[in-house]
Amino acid sequence: MKEEPRLEGTFTAMLQLEVAPGISFVEGERRGRFPFGNVVVLQGRAQRVLVDTGAGDGILDAVMAGGPFDVVINSHYHIDHVRGNGRVPAPVFWCPAGEADAFTSEEGFLRFTGLDLPGLDIAKVFRQGLGWTPTPISRELADGEVLDFGGLEAAVLRLPGHTPGHTGLWFPAERVIFSADIDLASFGPWYGDVYASVDDYLASLRRLDALVDEASGGGRHRITILTSHRRPLSYESFKERLPGFTARFGEREERILGLLTAEGPLTLDELAARWPIYGPLAPKLPGIWKSEYLMLRHHLDRLATSGRVVAEGVQLGGKDLWRAL
Ligand SMILES: [Zn+2]
Repeated sequence: MKEEPRLEGTFTAMLQLEVAPGISFVEGERRGRFPFGNVVVLQGRAQRVLVDTGAGDGILDAVMAGGPFDVVINSHYHIDHVRGNGRVPAPVFWCPAGEADAFTSEEGFLRFTGLDLPGLDIAKVFRQGLGWTPTPISRELADGEVLDFGGLEAAVLRLPGHTPGHTGLWFPAERVIFSADIDLASFGPWYGDVYASVDDYLASLRRLDALVDEASGGGRHRITILTSHRRPLSYESFKERLPGFTARFGEREERILGLLTAEGPLTLDELAARWPIYGPLAPKLPGIWKSEYLMLRHHLDRLATSGRVVAEGVQLGGKDLWRAL
């Protein structure tokens, strides 16, 4: 992976693309890469809405110069989607159903992310470095709800797995889908929080793919898929990228099974120290241990359910030993 230069200063130049009437994609700092993210501006006749706030201060200020927002919708509680919540003087914040605790209380945020797990002494570092602030939530969005902003309607599209409530939006009249962190980036899917789920993520990918087919009439109509960390995708680029993105789950499980077969049995800590998820990227990503650990844990639980690994009764320092079957 190529190192990006560290830039000083504040970004104010903004890449904004009106992908359909009333729907504008705005690229976040560093091309929307973590810890920033792209945002979407919705301009209805009745309401002006901002979807996510992680674009970075300068870009967010430039977006707000276009007029005040009536509503902010957060796709989920991750810092790269909410980091600007305190900067937007919106009267109301909406979040996915079931995730409000992660917005309103620090304890909730730490519980959802797993940063409070015993033994993970990086919690303090993250708390100090992330700049998390509480957001008052006035509405929780349920799957299938239709949001009418005045001549611009969006259906709430729940796509769990990345987080339990991870939510996108579907604009049927404009044939635009916002799929948030299902971004089809080359790293693959991320599910390194406590309530993330590989099975839910796979189901969400199938659901999104079916919607892309339906929305485009099997590729006959032009559609646009907006994501939080990449530039907009077309039907063709979505279809080209989806198989490789989906295959990452299986590739990671094969690496885990390979390690357990060659070196096992191993504890979760010992497995995580071999970085089967992040691989050679790990040394470049400080603080990534928690993600490796929890993504691994989700895979081991899943592999245990399907009878491919077993947690042995032997305890080492209170930790199970995992063995491939
Ligand atoms: Zn996220």
